[in-house]
Amino acid sequence: MFVLGFDIGGTKSAVILAEETEGNILFLDRVEIPTTRDWRKIIDKLILAGTTMLKHFNLDTEIYTIGISCGGPLDGERGIIKSPPNLPGWDNVPIVDYIEEKLGVRAKLQNDADACALAEWRYGAGKGYKDVIFLTFGTGLGAGLILNGKLYTGASNMAGEVGHIRLEEEGPMGYGKSGSFEGFCSGGGITQIAQQKAYELKAQGIRASFVKTSIQDITTKDVAQAAEQGNKDALEVFRISGQYFGRGLSILIDILNPEVIIAGSVYARAGKFLNEAMYREIEKEALEYSRKIVKILPAELREKIGDYGAVVTALV
Ligand code: BGC
Repeated sequence: MFVLGFDIGGTKSAVILAEETEGNILFLDRVEIPTTRDWRKIIDKLILAGTTMLKHFNLDTEIYTIGISCGGPLDGERGIIKSPPNLPGWDNVPIVDYIEEKLGVRAKLQNDADACALAEWRYGAGKGYKDVIFLTFGTGLGAGLILNGKLYTGASNMAGEVGHIRLEEEGPMGYGKSGSFEGFCSGGGITQIAQQKAYELKAQGIRASFVKTSIQDITTKDVAQAAEQGNKDALEVFRISGQYFGRGLSILIDILNPEVIIAGSVYARAGKFLNEAMYREIEKEALEYSRKIVKILPAELREKIGDYGAVVTALV
């Protein structure tokens, strides 16, 4: 069975062509472009890339279904992207109708964290577990909840919007709110913590080693590279994020008592810089009987997780 996946992310978006046989996914091709505010332009480009792939593989009439994975809030039933904090300009986008009309194939829309939770549960670190929480920890922070062997989406598809939870009155901005879980624990959040650190050092006449060009242009990757070289300021940035990650996870652990928590993107790449502070906070905050059993793991599907998420959306 051949499927097309659209992975719409805050930074980049991709179209993926894949084949599913006997529970395995074979990736045939993909095209990735930067995400901008003009949603029509982005979707049109991805549709064009998708149809070009299909022609190339002689699969024009073979596509079974289309999966679209995207940051929320969204209305999966009506196929509408609402106003995601990490997709400025993408307000009330009728993405399912738009893609179905242009490609003539049935499409399904799912929250990216839910899609990645299903992907890790079926093909990655969550295999064999019944209670799994997946956290994106990418451009934004969202959670996908597999509870008692089933994806839990809530009464209006909003379950797992954990990025919105406020952990401090003041702090880095995330989900349009200062001090939120997303503010502390996302790529954008780490950048903000690093910028603040860089300004503090600048006031003392010191240039932070993770400032490549200007403070405004710091990226999470720059901070991770400096941490890799043992830079103490960069390690402090990750310590702060790690501490709040532990605080947020403690809330989820106490509410849901999961067997495993899987985190993607930044955590999958730089977890070693977050772990110490994260575990210390969990030890302090979460209840012993829940915290003792939970395993916290990096996403196994690594850089491919978004592709899996979009494809799984087509298959479920
Ligand atoms: C959105 C979530 C999404 C997450 C990761 C958050 O800002 O509200 O729906 O899962 O970002 O993209």
